[in-house]
Amino acid sequence: MSGTDLMAALAAASTDRVLFDLDGIRATYRNLTDELPGVEVKFAMKACPVDEVIAGLAARGAGVDAASPGEIAQALSAGVAVSDVHFGNTVKSDQDIVAAYRLGVRDFATDSLEDVTAIARHAPGSRVFCRLATDGAGALWPLSRKCGCSVPDAVRVLDRARQLGLKPSGLSVHIGSQQMSTTAWRAAFDRLADAIVALRGRGIALDHVNLGGGLPALTYLDRRGEPLRPPLSGIFEAIRSGIGHLRGVSPVPLRFLVEPGRHLVADHGAIRAHVARLTSRQLLDGGQERWLYLSCGKFNGLYETDQLRYRLVFPASPAADFVPAMIAGPTCDSDDAFGGDGGPVRVPRDLRSGDPVWIMACGAYSISYMTRGFNGFGPLPYEIVQAHDREQAPCPA
Ligand SMILES: *Cc1c(COP(=O)(O)O)cnc(C)c1O
Repeated sequence: MSGTDLMAALAAASTDRVLFDLDGIRATYRNLTDELPGVEVKFAMKACPVDEVIAGLAARGAGVDAASPGEIAQALSAGVAVSDVHFGNTVKSDQDIVAAYRLGVRDFATDSLEDVTAIARHAPGSRVFCRLATDGAGALWPLSRKCGCSVPDAVRVLDRARQLGLKPSGLSVHIGSQQMSTTAWRAAFDRLADAIVALRGRGIALDHVNLGGGLPALTYLDRRGEPLRPPLSGIFEAIRSGIGHLRGVSPVPLRFLVEPGRHLVADHGAIRAHVARLTSRQLLDGGQERWLYLSCGKFNGLYETDQLRYRLVFPASPAADFVPAMIAGPTCDSDDAFGGDGGPVRVPRDLRSGDPVWIMACGAYSISYMTRGFNGFGPLPYEIVQAHDREQAPCPA
């Protein structure tokens, strides 16, 4: 069991680092391709821009959803074929398009006449897929207004693409990150069907539909510290039935792809941090409050504490007397703390500075959201855990 390897690697780590269980990531990938047979996977690499993870998934057949020339270059150097990389960001400057085209990318996301006109100019003849807006309802992080357009606008954009010599190739959606609702998937499929019908009326036949990200991680705790329990099998069921529906609506055969980020990596990463200090202070209202300050927080691995709490393990205090404490990172920023409405977390009373703390389920958006050194706390190094070579030294950050 790969989870055991991750715990063993946490126990063996004597300094702070992020650990990624590559076998666990591959097992989740295999489960995904079993649940959605025939659906192509493009890993949204911003969730874990780590060469070994990108290469490990590419070796199993995954491509990459990249959002900038920097991500494209990293994917290529990790060994992903350029034909398996698309530029999935609707936000790009002329220079970004030029750079992506020079690197060999020929598949671009778009959602506006301005952007599609720039693609036609700087990446002539390329394939473009138009992102439809969604409302993000049901997701922990809705991504509703910044990207994507209405169905009538998508028809205008893809029609313009055709006039400008591009190949209008597809439609995409992103229903919000850590989407907890199956209804959101059904609504997205309905909108995709409307768009396919409207495009058919204009004589535009697409060759693929990109279902984006949003598939959930399974082991998160919410802001009150309760397990989130996403309805994963219902989500897969909604996706399979939506795909069947779209196949019936489309005038030509369609390919389907998904762009999971979080789902593939979140449950298979953990941080080995340490206790900075457990303190107790009297506050202005006269109340006494304990705070546990960790070596790691919002600016070096735990950015998503706005919506999540992480499960903490205290291996040096196996049979402790527990006391309630607020949890915070090491910086002077007051946002660098577990947010939410669940109040304090129970921690061992006898914690001492330097004791190890294991922070679970932070394989997604940990490496990518690290600052360069807010208050001098630098990004953490990472280590890849595999069943057969567990003794590797940490890689440089
Ligand atoms: C961030 C992103 C993803 C991945 O989202 P998750 O919720 O982590 O799966 C996929 N596609 C696009 C276009 C994105 O911006």
